[in-house]
Amino acid sequence: MTKTDLREKEIAFKEESNAIFGYTNFRKNELVNRYRTVGCDNYSPLFNGNLITSVYITVQGKYVCGTDDLFSTFKEQIDHNKNSNILSNGILVKREIDEIQAFVLVHRSFIIARTRSIYGDAFEDIQFFETESVTDKLNQFGYYDIRDVTFHINIKLSHYFYLFLRIFIFTLLTMLLVSYLLIHKTSEESALISALRKAITRGGFHMNYQPLFDQNSHITGFEALVRWNHSTMGFISPEKFIPIAERHGLINPLTDRVFKLVIQDLSQSEWRFNKKKIGINVPPSYLQSDKNINKLKIYYDDIASMGYLPVIEITERELITDETITHLQILRDLGYLIAIDDFGTGYTGLSMLNKLPIDYIKVDRFFVKSIDQGSINIQILDTIIQLGKKLKIMVIAEGVETRCQLNYLIERKCNNFQGYLFSKPIDWKDTKILLVQTKR
Ligand code: C2E
Ligand code: CA
Ligand code: CA
Repeated sequence: MTKTDLREKEIAFKEESNAIFGYTNFRKNELVNRYRTVGCDNYSPLFNGNLITSVYITVQGKYVCGTDDLFSTFKEQIDHNKNSNILSNGILVKREIDEIQAFVLVHRSFIIARTRSIYGDAFEDIQFFETESVTDKLNQFGYYDIRDVTFHINIKLSHYFYLFLRIFIFTLLTMLLVSYLLIHKTSEESALISALRKAITRGGFHMNYQPLFDQNSHITGFEALVRWNHSTMGFISPEKFIPIAERHGLINPLTDRVFKLVIQDLSQSEWRFNKKKIGINVPPSYLQSDKNINKLKIYYDDIASMGYLPVIEITERELITDETITHLQILRDLGYLIAIDDFGTGYTGLSMLNKLPIDYIKVDRFFVKSIDQGSINIQILDTIIQLGKKLKIMVIAEGVETRCQLNYLIERKCNNFQGYLFSKPIDWKDTKILLVQTKR
């Protein structure tokens, strides 16, 4: 194509455009600049740079349409409708007779449809920019300038709508999950409560016994630990059901059940293991009622008559009232030994040492664990051991699991132990075997 040809085409284009739009100052640079500045990220002028052939329209950073698909959309119509410049989605401004090269102004509905296919319902509308010149004219016909599309798409509001929708859905799902978990937990807990009630009245528990050892590895006694193997729910840890029993007023009948089971186990033995301690966990709330104190007197007689030393292990995790201390004094006078359980985890233990003669304290395994970990709690452990020595109260270290822990305790003259290093809790049958073996 010669320079003159190009010049002619440029003039022809201007005339044609002017004819369509009545726009008198349709100059090349103006046309190119228009399209360059407004979001057509790419352009390459055709025919001396008069016509846009490569457009790439993005809305909020997302591709809407470009030359290739615009072209393929219109090509067939351009070919087919040789005598008309009106296309279904655009208007043909310039047609080259032999070559398929055209400048098409795209109808707004086309861009709207494209944008909606990308943004879905979040897309609301395109705002049309009102200008005086070409755009006015185009708008009259329902066509618009590509520039205006890319520039004025009203996506902001819908972006917030999307954000809001996401937050709303997230909150809704979280609420659903939390309520599901709560309902699940509540229904699990109510199932446990009714199962607990049944097990207390009809039976379902059995006892395990964990031996206590002295520095010579002699068994000095046991701690009785309740076990619950439910027919459908399987093994349920006391760590789980004891707090539930406490919360729902079932701990006192459960304590009675435990005493009865222990007495039953002890009586099923031809051997009498004299002077062995039998520690039973008694919650402070149980000790508040006179009725229970009377029951404890009966239990004491039963256990002591078989030669054992009944021990009340009272946890210092719960508040121990003065009334409880008075009751403990009565029980101690009767012959019960009193041990403060989980020593170091609460705050009533120390004041109890003042008010009541205590037989031994059990240091919580949390502190024994700190020996291996080298944490600051090791100093609390040391202090408890020293306190026991000063007050001449025996200290039992709970949860001894490693040789390192044992050596540390022996070095500090803490010589009574309970823990997996020596023995796990075992049933009464194995306990008897263990006792017979160590007796020899
Ligand atoms: P506890 O009174 O401090 O009992 C000691 C717990 O430590 C037992 O857990 C025992 O199995 C566990 N234990 C013993 N040595 C070790 C060890 O070396 N390492 C570790 N990791 N654990 C060790 P268990 O039997 O699961 O009982 C947990 C808690 O449930 C008891 O803590 C006690 O507070 C309560 N509990 C258990 N049986 C009864 C009961 O008959 N009546 C009442 N009221 N509470 C009970
Ligand atoms: Ca205990
Ligand atoms: Ca304990």
